[in-house]
Amino acid sequence: LILAAAAGVTGARMRRKRVQLAEQTALTEQAVRDRDDLIEAVTHELRTPLTSILGNAELVLEASEQPQTVARRAGVIVRSAEQMEAILTDLLHARSTGTALLGLHTAATDLRGLIENCLAASRAAADAREVTLHLTVSDTLWAEVDPNRMRQVLDNLLTNAIKYNRVGGTVLVSETLTANTMTLAITDSGCGIAPADRTLVFEPYYRTDSAHRSAQGGTGLGLGISRDITRRHGGDLRLVTSSAAGSRFELTLPLAISGRAVAVPDREGT
Ligand code: ADP
Repeated sequence: LILAAAAGVTGARMRRKRVQLAEQTALTEQAVRDRDDLIEAVTHELRTPLTSILGNAELVLEASEQPQTVARRAGVIVRSAEQMEAILTDLLHARSTGTALLGLHTAATDLRGLIENCLAASRAAADAREVTLHLTVSDTLWAEVDPNRMRQVLDNLLTNAIKYNRVGGTVLVSETLTANTMTLAITDSGCGIAPADRTLVFEPYYRTDSAHRSAQGGTGLGLGISRDITRRHGGDLRLVTSSAAGSRFELTLPLAISGRAVAVPDREGT
C-alpha cells in the first residue's frame, strides 16, 4: 500500500513536471515566433525606403553638374544605406540559423575615423532635433575590431543619444585610455532611463514606456546586439549613469597592439 501511494505521488510529480516543461516549451516557441515575425516586419518596412535611398543617392552621385557638397552628402547616404542593408542581411541570417551574430573580421582600425563617419551619418537626424554633437577623441585611436560591426555599435549608441534627447540637447563622445584598453563614453542630455529599466534595455525587443510614448521608432534590438558585438571583441558596453538630465553609455575595448591596419572608411560629410 505504501509503495503504491509512493508511486502515485511520484506519478503526480512527473505529470506536473511534464505540464511545466510543456508550458515552458510553448512559451519558448511563442517567443521564437514573435521574434521571427518582428524580424520579418522590420525587414519588410526597411527594404522599400532603403531601395529608394540607394537608387536616388546613386543618381545624385552620378550627376557631375551637382555641387561637390551635394555629392559628398550623397556619398554618406549611400554608405549609411549600405550599412543598414548589411544589418538586415545579418538579421535575416540570424532568423534562418538561430545565430545572433556572424563571425568577426578584425583588423587594427582607427576608431576616430569610424566615429566621424557615424557622426556624419547622424548629422541630419541631429539637425532635425537641433541636437549638437561634440567629439573630444584623440586624432587617431587604434583598436583591433571588425570595422563594420563596430560601426554598427557606434551608430546605434549615437542614434539613440540623438533620438532620446530633448530638442536642442547635446551629445558628447569622449575617451579615456588605460595601458591596454580604451573607453568611449557617449553622454546625452536626454530623458534618461529609470532604474528599473537599466538592465532591461539590453534585453531583445525591450523599449521603455517613454520610448513607446515618444514619436521615435525602434525595435528594442540595438543595445543587446551592440553589447553582444562588443563582448565578442573582448570588451563591454554598459549604461553607467542615467538621470532626468541624460544618460552615459561606456564602450570599453582592448587597444590594438599589432596587426594589419585597414583603410579607414573616408570621412566625407564631417
Ligand atoms: P530602439 O530601437 O528601441 O532604440 P535599443 O535596443 O537601441 O532599441 O534601445 C532599447 C531601449 O532603451 C529604447 O527603446 C529606449 O527605451 C532605451 N534607450 C536606449 N538608449 C537610450 C538613451 N540614450 N536615452 C534614453 N533611453 C534610451
